[in-house]
Amino acid sequence: MDLQSGKFYWPTTITNKPSYPRLEEDVTCDVLIIGGGSSGAQCAYYLSEGDLDIIVVDKREIGSGSTTTNTALIQYSGDKMFFELCQTFGEERSTRHLKLCQKAINEIEVAAKKLPTDCHFMRRDSLYFASSSDDVEKIEKEFQLLKKHGFQVEFFNEEKVGLHYPFRAPAAIYSLNDAELNPLAFNYGLLEKAKANGVRIYEHTEVIRKKYEDDGTVHFFTTDQRSITAKKIIYAAGYENLEINKEKNAAVTSSYAIVTQPLKEFWYNRTLIWETARPYFYMRTTHDDRVIFGGLDETTEFVDRRDSMILNKRDQLVQEFNKLFPNIEIEAEYYLGAFYGGTHDGMPILGIYDEYPHSYFLYGYGDNGTVYSMVLAKIIRDLIVTGKNEDLDLYIQTRRLR
Ligand SMILES: Cc1cc2nc3c(=O)[nH]c(=O)nc-3n(C[C@H](O)[C@H](O)[C@H](O)COP(=O)(O)OP(=O)(O)OC[C@H]3O[C@@H](n4cnc5c(N)ncnc54)[C@H](O)[C@@H]3O)c2cc1C
Repeated sequence: MDLQSGKFYWPTTITNKPSYPRLEEDVTCDVLIIGGGSSGAQCAYYLSEGDLDIIVVDKREIGSGSTTTNTALIQYSGDKMFFELCQTFGEERSTRHLKLCQKAINEIEVAAKKLPTDCHFMRRDSLYFASSSDDVEKIEKEFQLLKKHGFQVEFFNEEKVGLHYPFRAPAAIYSLNDAELNPLAFNYGLLEKAKANGVRIYEHTEVIRKKYEDDGTVHFFTTDQRSITAKKIIYAAGYENLEINKEKNAAVTSSYAIVTQPLKEFWYNRTLIWETARPYFYMRTTHDDRVIFGGLDETTEFVDRRDSMILNKRDQLVQEFNKLFPNIEIEAEYYLGAFYGGTHDGMPILGIYDEYPHSYFLYGYGDNGTVYSMVLAKIIRDLIVTGKNEDLDLYIQTRRLR
């Protein structure tokens, strides 16, 4: 899959990029992780705290999958609103999911602070505003539900939005304690820590074939004719997991984003900002005072069509930003178009399939991919180490709808 095109910002922020060898011998391990992006890195990081023998392989350079274009707003509220999730999954399960996401943000913070590299994890509040007066009711309903379940949120009416921001919105939810980070630095940091704990990491190593043995092991073969024998497998190949196993609840679309030049002025508390329209605009700032502004998603799954629109989308994103912040002058120093995976029901998926014995498919798909991968990585860790996790019912692909 040709995941993305454009001029990328995160690689320019990395000063000591780690590199890893290509696999050049036949190896065995307890756990093979296919994919060394942030999802595979999160799995490797947690599993490496035990005494399992772990291998991570990536067919590209580590970190050059979707993690390179992740805009990395770290939030618990997702594309499907809380009350909408309740309609699909019921209130108990939807609340449990949101609480797990909130906890995952805390875990990302704890992990980020232990890493050898600074991945610029920073707590930020979020403003989620109604894009039109038609959506005020939705915002009110969402606010009441979040409040009822103890999330730290405040209701902003039109006047209060106007007091803090230069644009008008008829209502908004102001939520405390979301976050932002540098996803590529996080990816490298997690893997370096895992490597220090004994995890073997290989890049430019693509697994293409497998064979199941009667003794419960699986042989994988790479494009270089090397074999990896593993007892458990984690498929963390990002959106390319769909090329390995087409999960019907998942879908890929195209998304666009820009990163501006460093700026001198920002908005209230440098909040993460997004809205109720679908597709929505979203924004955040960076540690070096830039703005990341994204949106204008397209339903296309075709690379040529996605890429033919990149320059146009770049210019449109600048214009849309200026409608919200007419007094902040921006240029798009970096810009991109990328494939982006979501699920139809709004929850990430942990796939466990009869056709793939001993295997876990991590589909951390959705706008909070980094947080979802954290939630799923911990569940997979538990399943491998102890054989059980009480939240598996929320994410397994055969989950019950309401
Ligand atoms: C434009 C955009 C904006 C986003 N914004 C946000 C956001 O604000 N907040 C958020 O939380 N999430 C966001 N996401 C989602 C986030 O980027 C993803 O959740 C995350 O990067 C996925 O990481 P990953 O490791 O699963 O995938 P990847 O980074 O793609 O890593 C998977 C790796 O698997 C490797 N691989 C694939 N097949 C094989 C094979 N056969 N053998 C060996 N290796 C293989 C690939 O080379 C790749 O490096 C955004 C995504 C996009 C595209």
